[in-house]
Amino acid sequence: MTKPVPRPSVLAIDAYVPGKSAAPGAARVFKLSANETPLGPSPRAIEALRGMADHIALYPEGSSRALREAIGARYGLNPERIIAGAGSDDILELLALAYVGPGDEGVYSQYGFLEYRIVILAAGGTPIAAPERNYTADVDALLGCVSERTKIVFLANPNNPTGTFLPAGEVARLARSLPSHVLLVLDAAYAEYVVRDDYEAGIALVDAHENVVITRTFSKIFGLAGLRVGWGYGPAHVIAALNRIRSPFNVSSVGSAAAIAALSDRAHLDAAIAHNARWLPWLTREITALGLDVLPSVANFVAIRFPETPGSTAADADHFLTSRGLVLRAIGAYGMPEFLRLTVGAQEANERVVEALAEFMRSARSRQGAQADAQADAQADAHG
Ligand SMILES: *Cc1c(COP(=O)(O)O)cnc(C)c1O
Repeated sequence: MTKPVPRPSVLAIDAYVPGKSAAPGAARVFKLSANETPLGPSPRAIEALRGMADHIALYPEGSSRALREAIGARYGLNPERIIAGAGSDDILELLALAYVGPGDEGVYSQYGFLEYRIVILAAGGTPIAAPERNYTADVDALLGCVSERTKIVFLANPNNPTGTFLPAGEVARLARSLPSHVLLVLDAAYAEYVVRDDYEAGIALVDAHENVVITRTFSKIFGLAGLRVGWGYGPAHVIAALNRIRSPFNVSSVGSAAAIAALSDRAHLDAAIAHNARWLPWLTREITALGLDVLPSVANFVAIRFPETPGSTAADADHFLTSRGLVLRAIGAYGMPEFLRLTVGAQEANERVVEALAEFMRSARSRQGAQADAQADAQADAHG
């Protein structure tokens, strides 16, 4: 008997595997694997969500008008050119479905967010990965991958899982240099965390070009990952295309209400920015001082590179840290098996990670020392 068979491009997808959240046996678990905020959501968001409890039998307003108006007011944008989604993943998927089909290509960068590859394949297209330099997207390499078949280019800025970013001038050069038939998607999921003045999320580029879209999310600094709310801002013709294919009620009433409330809490946002601005450099400094490489991150996480020596690898470190309740993200699926990604956590979690990594490095060194001694002894025996 034959079974229904999905399209070949669907079978080419490796399903996205989220970071693990459990550490069996550990007394306390610190989940530092999904770039969630240690500050949690604004209390106003929680209050708003409780206030919706009596209304959940009703469908939401389908266009998320109130949310789009709140976003528009907050960022100075025309709500008609905003689309809300069930997380920004929803928007990324809609963009691929609307613009990419069989025979088309979608470009992303080598260590770029894996969701791009997935949505390009899901739409039936062919994903093309542009090489990076120093774990950073390279505008010339991205442009070099563009052909007549290219329909879309995805760029996470800053990127996950590397934490690196492209300065505003480089992103502007990419937008300017792309052929006008190619849609540029700037995924700014971590924009709020970036404290550098040569960074821009890309809103001005959307206004300057007919082929640039930006996506944002309430999952990261706003602390609403469980509610699934994100948005996109783009030219009217792109937003119109996405509105044709989105599901009619793609954002829940509860999610909208919480996101609107979260947007109004400037103090909570500032506290989250300040927390990250304090602990991101601290973690980078402390972990580097242990003799490990840390990629220069502007987001709320760092990618840490481990030695390839048996006993000291990222997999060994992952095992060691997990047994102590410290759950980081292995990123082998990104082609970075020698790295672990660490989310900036609360003070206690950050301090515990640094202590545990110090212990891991000490014990790795003493294991290697013992190994070297044993080798020297064996050699001495052979000669003696
Ligand atoms: C987390 C993340 C997203 C957003 O996810 P949603 O929860 O779907 O909004 C988008 N892009 C990148 C690069 C991310 O890391």
